[in-house]
Amino acid sequence: MWVFRGLSGPRAPAQLQQGLLAAWCRCCRASSSYSASAQPSRVRALVYGNHGDPAKVVQLKNLELAAVGGSDVRVRMLAAPINPSDINMIQGNYGLLPKLPAVGGNEGVGEVIEVGSSVTGLKPGDWVIPANAGLGTWRTEAVFSGEALIRVPGDIPLQSAATLGVNPCTAYRMLMDFEQLQPGDSVIQNASNSGVGQAVIQIAAALGLRTINVVRDRPDIQKLTDRLKNLGAEHVVTEEELRLPETKNIFQDMPQPRLALNCVGGKSSTELLRHLAPGGTMVTYGGMAKQPVIASVSLLIFKDLKLRGFWLSQWKKKHSPDEFKELIFTLCELIRQGQLTAPSCSEIPLQDYQQALEASMKPFVSSKQILTM
Ligand code: NDP
Repeated sequence: MWVFRGLSGPRAPAQLQQGLLAAWCRCCRASSSYSASAQPSRVRALVYGNHGDPAKVVQLKNLELAAVGGSDVRVRMLAAPINPSDINMIQGNYGLLPKLPAVGGNEGVGEVIEVGSSVTGLKPGDWVIPANAGLGTWRTEAVFSGEALIRVPGDIPLQSAATLGVNPCTAYRMLMDFEQLQPGDSVIQNASNSGVGQAVIQIAAALGLRTINVVRDRPDIQKLTDRLKNLGAEHVVTEEELRLPETKNIFQDMPQPRLALNCVGGKSSTELLRHLAPGGTMVTYGGMAKQPVIASVSLLIFKDLKLRGFWLSQWKKKHSPDEFKELIFTLCELIRQGQLTAPSCSEIPLQDYQQALEASMKPFVSSKQILTM
């Protein structure tokens, strides 16, 4: 979906400029209108030309903006988070990799500045988010195909809009699509302080579901526990506490969960399985520990547990754009009703991206890094 004409400006060596220009042109033609502009605007973007350590391969570059074609939309980006999938994409180990060079970032919110003559449903001033991954949101401005964007209401908080398109959608689908849960049922999850985890806690509470939330221990664990309970978490336990026999006491006054949401893998996921009700499902959607899921044979045989996976990109392929818009609409309603807030965030200006990238890869930060443009 590249509509830039390439790198420009005194900082880009001529050879690199030519090579990248050619690469960008190829990408542009594949999916979007591309046209030369008499007086191209300059925009800033976080670009990577090779896969590798984000701190080393991501650079702030000046790009030229293409003219707005008939089906295009010019967007001023407002804010864009740094998610683990953005980092994995830059490292080259994600299920979907854009052609290089690429602009980093898969989600964020921008304001429409100009629309092409054949664009309907969007107008200047609207807020938009990407319809799919791979758009490259870490930039000040861009010309995108109108089809690559979804309008979101401008009356929701900026941080909510910037973080709406991936984590809350994942949380909502996982709560709805795997087990038929009723109010009063319980759900167990790990990495509960993650962006997805915080959305799970809040959406579950809005649906009347009770949550058991596992987190890694840390010096300020009480502060984190209080924060998650304020969001609607019923129980917050550390990974170590989850292994203690007395943790089972939780289930004296709440039903055993039929749904477990696994963001971590390794031992953490094995523990989630131990607490699932017979016939229950564990959905794996992240692998933060970079360890495989190990399920005990006896649990599979005697409790008939189900192991499933979820990937939002795959869900979108199997569902229409209108179904995704409906999902966004449902989540916006929860936001408006005060039932879904943005994850805990730190806003970092685009030029301080190195600091933001480092913080996004550190353990125990508990704050989503959001680049502001
Ligand atoms: P965040 O950056 O908000 O949070 C990361 C979480 O991972 C924190 O809770 C952190 O806990 C935990 N964590 C980090 N390293 C480890 C580790 N070694 N062991 C255990 N926990 C760890 O992440 P997001 O919510 O944005 O994403 C979370 C995961 O979900 C990612 O893997 C992401 O790719 C995946 N995801 C998948 C989607 C899908 O469709 N399948 C969609 C959205 C996200 P701590 O505070 O203890 O460091």
